[in-house]
Amino acid sequence: MNVTLLQAMTGSARVLNGKVAIVTGSTSGIGLGIAHAFASAGASVVINGFGKQDEIGNTIESLQRETGVAAVYSAADMTKPDEIAGMVNLALETFGRLDILVNNAGIFHVGPIDQLPVEKWDAVVAINLSSAFHTIRLALPAMHRQGGGRIINIASALALVGLPLTSAYAATKHGIVGLTKVVALETAEQNITCNAICPGNVWTPLAEERIAEQMKVHGLPREEVIRTILLAEQPNKRFAMAEEIGAFATFLASDAAASITGAALPMDGGWTAH
Ligand code: NAD
Repeated sequence: MNVTLLQAMTGSARVLNGKVAIVTGSTSGIGLGIAHAFASAGASVVINGFGKQDEIGNTIESLQRETGVAAVYSAADMTKPDEIAGMVNLALETFGRLDILVNNAGIFHVGPIDQLPVEKWDAVVAINLSSAFHTIRLALPAMHRQGGGRIINIASALALVGLPLTSAYAATKHGIVGLTKVVALETAEQNITCNAICPGNVWTPLAEERIAEQMKVHGLPREEVIRTILLAEQPNKRFAMAEEIGAFATFLASDAAASITGAALPMDGGWTAH
């Protein structure tokens, strides 16, 4: 992770020493960036998400080797409350505590609402929103016992504004901001904070696929596809990197962010400033 960036924000690179974090959906993309940032800052992490067993094994092994902290894997499916409970128990049984919860697992579906399959709506709601209800209700007792904690929900710019063809996604991301505010209010006196990060476009393996697909569909060069299609809504015309989200999440998880709670914080290159 970008140690200099984190040091500039917090004054120390190991601001999470001794902490234990769960990051849902951390086998790839933004979640993996957050897990790396937390481990680099000294936190033990529970990695979760789908993927090939050997690749997940390699991720855990390199995370531990590079950062010197412990990491374990939970295969919990975020649509299944009993498996979510198993993931929280794994953290408590392995590490004896739980300080930081990041609700990051999410899926996206594009299409007009009258053509949105009911099972797609249900899946987006289950993974993007209901899973956070379950993780939060299951993590809070440990945070209360320990005298504090941090909850970070990965929302989206589409938690703050709408965009055609994204009904299920935007509805769940707006919903998670509501959940963030209520959890923040309910825990405000317990040294627990709950915030939402609202990224615009972030560079993940999926972005490269979308560029190639749009270049074919529109017959446009790569740079034009990026500027006018993928980043059409994003004034700064650049993708954020997963490391940037990781650094910001680390700051929110640190003692320096104790007074930030109930906030929906854009990291969107000016998208929602319109
Ligand atoms: P990604 O597809 O790279 O990663 C998603 C992760 O969630 C993976 O680890 C996947 O295995 C996991 N996952 C999916 N379904 C799951 C389930 N049922 N149970 C457990 N894990 C599951 O996606 P990403 O782009 O890194 O997105 C991560 C989060 O950031 C999502 O909530 C997404 O909405 C949000 N976000 C992404 C962007 C972007 O541009 N990439 C922008 C704004 C917000």
